[in-house]
Amino acid sequence: MIKLDFAEGLFVYFLFWFLTLTILWIREVWRGKVNDWSLSNSRLFHCDNCHYAFLVKDNANITRCPRCNSMCIFRKNRNF
Ligand SMILES: [Zn+2]
Repeated sequence: MIKLDFAEGLFVYFLFWFLTLTILWIREVWRGKVNDWSLSNSRLFHCDNCHYAFLVKDNANITRCPRCNSMCIFRKNRNF
């Protein structure tokens, strides 16, 4: 059996929670980077049929509208 006095047990307890919180924090930072969205006009699509504006994650030039499922083509020099 491992003998621990009160100070060592308290140290192990705090070390356990410190490591747990560190792992959870690193996981949250990693998830934030993976699911990162940045707003820019080059990623903002506008559907001509239903006038729904939506974001596309990659730099695609053509995609489908999530509302009406029609094809949307990215046009440069749009005036919103
Ligand atoms: Zn649409």
